[in-house]
Amino acid sequence: MGQRDDVVCPACCSEGIHSFVKQNFSYKECLACQTLIVSHRPPAEAFSRYYQGSESAKY
Ligand SMILES: [Zn+2]
Repeated sequence: MGQRDDVVCPACCSEGIHSFVKQNFSYKECLACQTLIVSHRPPAEAFSRYYQGSESAKY
């Protein structure tokens, strides 16, 4: 069973649509009031890419 992405707009509780992913944050936009919703849960793909990047980026 996959995890349901149930992030809703804090202003009107409408479901946000996926907008874009930046750093480890995924952004959603509410269609009803154009509020930008930030989710802390990164997609699995971005998470693994972050790990590979940190491993090769040694000081
Ligand atoms: Zn809204």
